[in-house]
Amino acid sequence: MPALQRSEARTRARLLKVHGYTLDLDLTRGETVFGCTTTIRFACAEPGAGTFLDLRPETLHRAVLNGTELDPATLADHRLPLTGLLAENELLLVTDQRYSSTGEGLHRYVDPADGSVYLYATCGPDLAPLAFPCFDQPDLKGTFTLSATAPADWTVLGNGTGKQVAEGRWEFEPTKPFSTYLFTVVAGPLHSVHSEHDGIPLGLHGRRSLAADLDREAEELFEVTRQSFDRLHELFDERYPFGGYDQAFVPEFNWGAMENPGCVVFAEQMLFHSAPTEAERTFRAMVVAHEMSHMWFGDLVTLRWWDDIWLNESFAEYLGFRITDEVTRFRSAWSGFAIKRKGWGYDADQRATTHPIAAEGLESVAEAMGNFDGISYAKGAAALRQLVAWLGDEAFFAGINEHFARHRFGNAELGEFLDVLTATSGRDVRGWAERWLRTSGVDTLRLAVTHDGDTITAAELVPDGSRPHLVGLGVFDLDADGKPVLRDSFRVELEPGTPAPLPQLAGAPRAALLLPNHGDLSWAKIRLDEASWRTVTEKLSLFEDQLTRAVLWEHARDLVRDGELPPSGYLDLVAAHLPGETVDTIVDAVFTFARTKMLPYLAPRERTAAQARLAGAARELLARQDTEQGLRLAALRAAVDNATGEREAAELEEWLGGGAFGIELSAELRWAALVRLAALGVIGEDRIAAELAAEPGSTASEGAARARAALPTAEAKEAAWGLLFGDGSGLSNALLTAVAQGFWQSGGEELQLPYVERYFAEVPAAGERGDIVSRALGAALFPAGWSTPETLALAEAVLADDTLTPGLRRTLADQVDDLRRATRIRG
Ligand SMILES: [Zn+2]
Repeated sequence: MPALQRSEARTRARLLKVHGYTLDLDLTRGETVFGCTTTIRFACAEPGAGTFLDLRPETLHRAVLNGTELDPATLADHRLPLTGLLAENELLLVTDQRYSSTGEGLHRYVDPADGSVYLYATCGPDLAPLAFPCFDQPDLKGTFTLSATAPADWTVLGNGTGKQVAEGRWEFEPTKPFSTYLFTVVAGPLHSVHSEHDGIPLGLHGRRSLAADLDREAEELFEVTRQSFDRLHELFDERYPFGGYDQAFVPEFNWGAMENPGCVVFAEQMLFHSAPTEAERTFRAMVVAHEMSHMWFGDLVTLRWWDDIWLNESFAEYLGFRITDEVTRFRSAWSGFAIKRKGWGYDADQRATTHPIAAEGLESVAEAMGNFDGISYAKGAAALRQLVAWLGDEAFFAGINEHFARHRFGNAELGEFLDVLTATSGRDVRGWAERWLRTSGVDTLRLAVTHDGDTITAAELVPDGSRPHLVGLGVFDLDADGKPVLRDSFRVELEPGTPAPLPQLAGAPRAALLLPNHGDLSWAKIRLDEASWRTVTEKLSLFEDQLTRAVLWEHARDLVRDGELPPSGYLDLVAAHLPGETVDTIVDAVFTFARTKMLPYLAPRERTAAQARLAGAARELLARQDTEQGLRLAALRAAVDNATGEREAAELEEWLGGGAFGIELSAELRWAALVRLAALGVIGEDRIAAELAAEPGSTASEGAARARAALPTAEAKEAAWGLLFGDGSGLSNALLTAVAQGFWQSGGEELQLPYVERYFAEVPAAGERGDIVSRALGAALFPAGWSTPETLALAEAVLADDTLTPGLRRTLADQVDDLRRATRIRG
């Protein structure tokens, strides 16, 4: 199945102008398929010419072009040839389309809590033909006029404004033009809450069994939505153009959220079925603002082809964090960016698979898919922060508004954006883009300091890399109590390869810490002088400013990944400073890195001791009297996930019975504890089945799948393997991922090693099962804990297989890169 190539898209875009789609869906046709009647009106610039339509139906019943029946048998490789086009055309298609179980196309979900059925469509980037026949490329925009027949108790949502016109019959007004990848429909017996702001109707929607969660979260979600609309309307000349604004929380969603115009879809975990940390609330607010920013960047003005993903994602990411920080109550958004989001990007930018923010020459959508990564999001946003710092807000937003005015309801490329910014700012934005957007990798900023006694004689900041930077430099002293205090901070402009002298420091007293990239304005690794690093090891938790602590923890993480700080040194930092930490974003990020990424840097016999140290730090934090709820939750999760011995297992049972440290265990925490107990061999199938029956739901179903795969028996492993790779693997995306996550959690060499070999023998075939299954099996199931030269050799041999699909190859290549690093550090 050939994915669309850029050259084909270009030809088709020159030939066609799509006016609009009229779609009528029949959602009452059973469990397997839905009916779809599509009418497409479009113009052709060269009458007589031909092209093709993209469609992936279960059955193509009829295709009628300008009144002439086409032969359905001509459909091949998901394409229907169209010939003899007129200047104006009408194409009618009658199809059955298959429901998806992997979140690709129209996903169907049966709620384990009450048996209700829910549907939602995911069409990006090239999945729309799974939902309806179309010309599926971003620069063929059309209007959408939707109607649907559904069971009587359902609500149907679409991109446009709709209503129920008769029992089970829904009709929608035509939308403004947008790209096919942004189409959605959400349906089921939804629970909904409505509001309005500044003339915009607002709606929140979720499964009926999560009604209490939606009602509890509604006010905060509406508040962030209102605040973000107000700020976006201040920044942009163009008002929100897509009518009402619905936000639907849906099950088994593969991403955080999707920016469908007028109907954004979120992973329903963001409804917080159990109490969240402050970090999770902050992140959700950022995602809400991110998707709203997409209504302009992405939906109003859309990339022409997928190599400009960054024109969508980096802007939405930058504005998502900025707006959250500026106008919502979540003022620590940039700390989360520094310690979590950027780490995702820094890792991606140091792998062999790294690429420029603005990629060039991506021919197929399949290749571009791999670039929905930490580079397009975090690094792109960091680059924009640099650009805004350099140009100033006024010139930046003047350029953006001009860009919107020129391309509204159309498409644009990087070059067009740079031209506008150059015109409004009078600066060499193209030169900036060459160095920031067309290069890959991370620069390093090093401090070189000389002293005479207690006086600094000279200092310079030495950049190693290819980009200009505008960074902060922080100078810290210790006060009388030994607490770090900021003495001074100033901005430094760095040109590539040219050390910048710091005259502010010459003759100044010796500092406890000199911190490059203070304030985290740039995208760079930092290296401190020896005395500054000593201050970090002794004082890290005592720095007043949380962003400074976040930058320093990220620096420590980077040292571990580069083999410059042994894992034991990082664990020392954790033991000394995490129990005193006051921000749950930092606590969660540090524990997550230590458990999921750093443990493979250790030999297996050292891992148990390391986990015991992590659990110890978590307990110390929990024992503090002043800790707030989010902090306690983050620590409790770490205590549960790192429970290793018999004593800890007994304690988990106690917590399951009566709560822990004054916290009643939520469904998520209960299942995390049960998965640990299963992995430790303390509980078996009977207990898992009983817990599942006691409170059925999506959390329980996924928890049970994870726990069963985690049981340390040969039978359990074989059963899990059958689910992952066997014929009957009709598991949904979420359950497949859950099984994969549980699999390696138990069993020593004898139990696991045979599966390492089987993994590399069987995983190449997973590519044929689509992008989402490839990710589950290529990433979640990758044997990252087996960081040995033998595993590495097997992994590298698989990468040499030239039949791998591009999606699976990219997923595996990233994992192999991490494995190479882990194997090298473990030594
Ligand atoms: Zn986005």
